[in-house]
Amino acid sequence: MKYISTRDNSKVYNFEQVFIKGLADDGGLYVPKSLKKYNTDELLELKNLNYNELSTEIINLFSADFISKEELSSLINKSYSTFREKEVVKISSVGEIKLLELFHGPTLAFKDVAMQFIGNLYEYYLNKSDKKINIVVATSGDTGAAAIDAIKGKSNLNIFVLHPNNKISSVQRKLMTTVEEKNVFNIAIDGNFDDCQNIVKQMFSDLEFSKSINMSGVNSINWARIIAQTVYYFYSYFKLGKETISFSVPTGNFGDVFAGYLAKKMGLPIDKLIVATNENDILHRAISKGDYVSKEVKETLSPSMDIQLASNFERLIYYVNNSDSKITAEIMKKVKQNSYKIDKPSLEIIQKDFLSESCNEKETLDIIKKNYEENDIILDPHTAVGVGAANKLSFNDCIVLSTAHPCKFPDAINNSINKHEKLPEELQYVLNKDENFKVLNNNTEEVKNFVKSKV
Ligand SMILES: *Cc1c(COP(=O)(O)O)cnc(C)c1O
Repeated sequence: MKYISTRDNSKVYNFEQVFIKGLADDGGLYVPKSLKKYNTDELLELKNLNYNELSTEIINLFSADFISKEELSSLINKSYSTFREKEVVKISSVGEIKLLELFHGPTLAFKDVAMQFIGNLYEYYLNKSDKKINIVVATSGDTGAAAIDAIKGKSNLNIFVLHPNNKISSVQRKLMTTVEEKNVFNIAIDGNFDDCQNIVKQMFSDLEFSKSINMSGVNSINWARIIAQTVYYFYSYFKLGKETISFSVPTGNFGDVFAGYLAKKMGLPIDKLIVATNENDILHRAISKGDYVSKEVKETLSPSMDIQLASNFERLIYYVNNSDSKITAEIMKKVKQNSYKIDKPSLEIIQKDFLSESCNEKETLDIIKKNYEENDIILDPHTAVGVGAANKLSFNDCIVLSTAHPCKFPDAINNSINKHEKLPEELQYVLNKDENFKVLNNNTEEVKNFVKSKV
């Protein structure tokens, strides 16, 4: 499959470039030049595959020029052998709503689904070349832990993870900072998540620096992550066996919900994708009324969604504008100046596929409480936002993506239902283990120097 950048369709790229580089040199995101669309008969053939077989079928459409189908299949088996659920994900119910539990991987968040896969994809790539790669990634909490677990101990790979100092939950932090492998480096930045993400972007755009260390990224714009996430939309659709289905997706960087949009573009009969946000509601304002102007980031109970610049939204802008990279590049200039308003025709196109809602802090706590009392289930605060959005839109016949295990966010749970949700047995050791991380100022040069001193 060939890929282009959302900002310039004159150059084509292969899967290796797309996967290793993450972001195109022109600042755009990679998208496939054309997409496979399954017809009804083809969907029927996928229906009875198990999770790993289905992953292999779908991902192979995108990666065949990089890895053979047989090798992909064994890579996927290896990746998901670390999950506590044999079928990787699990479907449960809260009242009328179905929950797609995506948190049965090693670090208890949905990000493991894609990260375990791409960790092994790096290993596969490095086995074929004599390179050494340094991964640098910013995290609002869950990405870092998932990336570290996927990369730790792998040869010829280092990983540097920037998290906002004191702004993630202590369980989130400990899952990252108690890892002992020598190729893992945790950095706490005195700033918020957007500051961390900015530093990483500046490091990437300093081409001399980024080339000199063979810098690579695993953030949610990486196409390899998106396609791994597309799989569970197909899987849950087949499992439920309904004609069409809607999904409510707790959203930050627009990666997970974009994977659903991709599934729809590939022919999966999805009705609506509900973009569920916390008080950092730029995407709700954008989708409901065209207002894509970012505000200050607020800290909330669902920190993995405390984001005001949803990187993957650029891919939607591209598709909504008829895959026109010139228009997309123009729009992204406006986004950069924080002056982009979505015009009415584009908004109508977006609203054919998407709905949105946002839940404030009190609503989030109330949803956790209500579902604990009525349905005897403890929702993590991100999932609660997804459930709340579906409730507010009276869309209760839908699948909510359950993106994290509640024990990762003990303060929110405790605050809401006065109950302490325990870590699974096999992860309890992190609570009392020594932590290892370096606190640095919100300063790109300082971070660069630290990284240089370690590679
Ligand atoms: C990352 C994350 C999200 C948001 O996913 P995006 O792909 O950034 O929209 C939601 N919930 C949890 C628990 C997360 O870790």
